Amino acid sequence: MSSKTVEYSVQTTTRKVFWENPYLVELETRVTGVAANEVTLESTIFYALSGGQESDSGVIGQHSVLQARKEDHQIFYQLPEDHGLNVGDTVKVSIDWARRYKLMRLHFSAEIVLEIVMAKFPAIQKIGAHIAEDKARIDFFWSENLSPVLAEITAEAMRVVHSDIRIVSDYSDKDLERRYWEIPGFARVPCGGTHLRQTSEIGEISLKRDNVGKGKERIVIRVDERTPPEPS
Ligand SMILES: [Zn+2]
Repeated sequence: MSSKTVEYSVQTTTRKVFWENPYLVELETRVTGVAANEVTLESTIFYALSGGQESDSGVIGQHSVLQARKEDHQIFYQLPEDHGLNVGDTVKVSIDWARRYKLMRLHFSAEIVLEIVMAKFPAIQKIGAHIAEDKARIDFFWSENLSPVLAEITAEAMRVVHSDIRIVSDYSDKDLERRYWEIPGFARVPCGGTHLRQTSEIGEISLKRDNVGKGKERIVIRVDERTPPEPS
């Protein structure tokens, strides 16, 4: 058995630098596994769809990432078939920062809106959420039309934005890779997504209500267009 095979079999996780610093857009790392057109990395800044937040887009060693998927603690990146990468190769990973930053702004808008909705309607039940680059949505089991309360929810969310509060993001269990975000006095929520540093970065939030079936309500969230800050 070659040392490469051993290395691949024991490497079941990747160091998730997108948690340590979600404002990093370039990273040099090593390939730890290759299986046909999928590769795994020693460390990564490239987020893979989970918790409703879509994957990043970007490149690994100049090859476009076609798909990123998370399985347990490992992330598999699908590259074009002629990628030619081998275990042990040093590669540069870079991500589309404009997309990531927009995803983070929409993601945190959704976090805040969800907390406000749940505080207002303790019996409401979240069905799911999805964060895309143009908009986010949260679906609920709820029999009443949410339209009449959207202005109030928006105003409350904008108070959190304008307060420019520091958002704490950290591990609740490092070995199990469980993460949370917290705004002391507002909420502490388990989440493995990438989070902004300050609430003011969200910008202007606008909400729209959709009915997605009997007994179901959807809140669609948009934020204003703005130039992302320099990655840091
Ligand atoms: Zn989150």
